[in-house]
Amino acid sequence: MAQRVATGDGASKKTSRVRVAVRLRPYMGKQDEKNEGPCVRGLDSQNLEITNWRNATETVKYHFDAFHGEQTTQQQVFISSVKPVLPYALNGQNASVFAYGPTGAGKTHTMLGSSGQPGMIPRAVRELFNLVKAKDEDEGWDYSIGMSYLEIYNEKVLDLLSPGSHDLPIREDKDKNILIPGLTHTTISSFSEFDKLFMPATLNRTTASTKLNERSSRSHAILLIKVVRTQRAFPNRQQTGKLYLVDLAGSEDNRRTGNQGIRLKESGAINLSLFTLSKVVDSLNSGTAVRVPYRDSKLTRLLQDSLGGSAHSVMITNIAPEYKYYFDTFSALNFAAKSKLIVNKPFTRETVAVPVLPVKRARRDQEAGSSGTEPQKKKQKEEKKTEQDDSSPSAHLDSLSEPSVMDRLLALEKLMMSCQDKDRNSMLNDVAQSRKEIQELKEKQKKYESQALLMSQSAKQEPAFKNTSVPLQRKPSNATRPNKQQAVVQPLQVSQLQPLKQLAVVRKQSVCVKKKEKKLSDHVELPGGKENIMETSWESQLDTSVLEHSRQKILQVLNSGSLKELKGLQLIGDKKGKLILGWREIHGHFLKLEDLVKVEGMTEKRFSSFMKANILSAMGK
Ligand code: ADP
Ligand code: MG
Repeated sequence: MAQRVATGDGASKKTSRVRVAVRLRPYMGKQDEKNEGPCVRGLDSQNLEITNWRNATETVKYHFDAFHGEQTTQQQVFISSVKPVLPYALNGQNASVFAYGPTGAGKTHTMLGSSGQPGMIPRAVRELFNLVKAKDEDEGWDYSIGMSYLEIYNEKVLDLLSPGSHDLPIREDKDKNILIPGLTHTTISSFSEFDKLFMPATLNRTTASTKLNERSSRSHAILLIKVVRTQRAFPNRQQTGKLYLVDLAGSEDNRRTGNQGIRLKESGAINLSLFTLSKVVDSLNSGTAVRVPYRDSKLTRLLQDSLGGSAHSVMITNIAPEYKYYFDTFSALNFAAKSKLIVNKPFTRETVAVPVLPVKRARRDQEAGSSGTEPQKKKQKEEKKTEQDDSSPSAHLDSLSEPSVMDRLLALEKLMMSCQDKDRNSMLNDVAQSRKEIQELKEKQKKYESQALLMSQSAKQEPAFKNTSVPLQRKPSNATRPNKQQAVVQPLQVSQLQPLKQLAVVRKQSVCVKKKEKKLSDHVELPGGKENIMETSWESQLDTSVLEHSRQKILQVLNSGSLKELKGLQLIGDKKGKLILGWREIHGHFLKLEDLVKVEGMTEKRFSSFMKANILSAMGK
């Protein structure tokens, strides 16, 4: 039986680290409808920086084993990141190269490439044949190369060389080699033989994927090249080296696409594999983990003998420069980074209010002083000339100030915070701070209520003041627009005389009103459309900044609260609390409150009631 050797050629040291390279693909105008320009750029061969959404005067700088800028060719990426690991496969050792990153950032381009720009896979296979050819006959070994090609989709292992096959098992033999019984494995004697098998299988996969909701971005495509070498002389030792070349599923947050049903299950499974991969890479690179959680997903289980340990592993993190990828880029970098540093320097000059300076020019002027080749920049300038006129200095800040964007950023930040143990204390501080703020708001609330009561009493003495008009509608909530209005809840007296939608605003103010209202609201919620009218109404009558504040607090509890804290929310009991914890376990965090409907049993209607009860509770208690 072929043996896997742990070390070779005197390399007795265990190399368990995963080398991390980042590749930034070129900026694509068509991917950037808002003409915001890039949000990330390279600094040198190991460092890059990304704009810091939290503070426009800062950038976040990351350090990697290698950084490949947008002008880097396939050949350069290959020589720097892939070629060095190939000789190990000829010596009975294992290696893996995988492309990580959001869909559209260049994973397939990097791994597969095109006929004009072949990627890492064709280059690596060609190079393996060259290495074998170059081996000295006198060394006394015969080499044979074979391939398998599989896909992990929805936690199922599928044979791409035998379409229609079923989920294959993953096993481990007594020497701790990972095997897939039943997987097609074909010996190849030349690159063209490889190509004849590989290309149709890849095309099949792509065609199937368009029919199946872009499955290719949701599955992991794994090419396995085995190099078996056999000693010609007695005792005819045999060694097998494995090389895995993997085009991973997109690392974007599938929850944002609003997946339901099968898609939701699918994205959950993808997240599980990628989530586990991130834990494995993290454990390997930090060197502190007691247990590397290979068994937690099919992907990591399969790669177990070729990722970490004595294997040689390279992760190429692909990122895209456009703002629309900002969140995914940010999380991909955080996953991949060895270190990061907040740098007190604006990413672009558009963060400084100098309206006369066209935004793209400003950025390019800066770029001229950093990395990148002149011809490319010239080309970019020409492409972007037409974009300059309508770009305002605050273009990207505008997009960051959309409420949904802010929600996502805040959630992302929470996600990052919760991922890092060292930040747990700061999270606890945040929770304490939030509680304090809620307390202060409650006190303010009481003050306004008593003022309102006084007003209502004086109003009773003046019949002309009897208020039957609808209160002023405020603008919809906007997280970042400063709102000078104070937290004001409509005076109590209107509740007796106002239409239903106004009653909702004051429902927390007295037990008597509350009871009456419950009945009324039940009544209102029955016919479909009316509930919405009512929801719009009660929310729109609250001060926007207070409303937003309350929403953020609730989101914070949903994302970081313990079961007890979750149960402290209105309308969340033990069962719901556990379901929320379970959802968090699988999917990570809620990016926005509306994501709560993805939790089992949480209908739109229940969600509406949940929101109303919690926001009013936070404000009116
Ligand atoms: P992914 O596999 O991560 O979803 P793709 O490899 O399909 O992304 O890349 C998306 C698009 O960007 C494709 O049109 C691809 O040709 C292009 N692209 C990606 N990386 C590069 C690059 N380094 N140079 C030129 N074009 C690229
Ligand atoms: Mg792809």
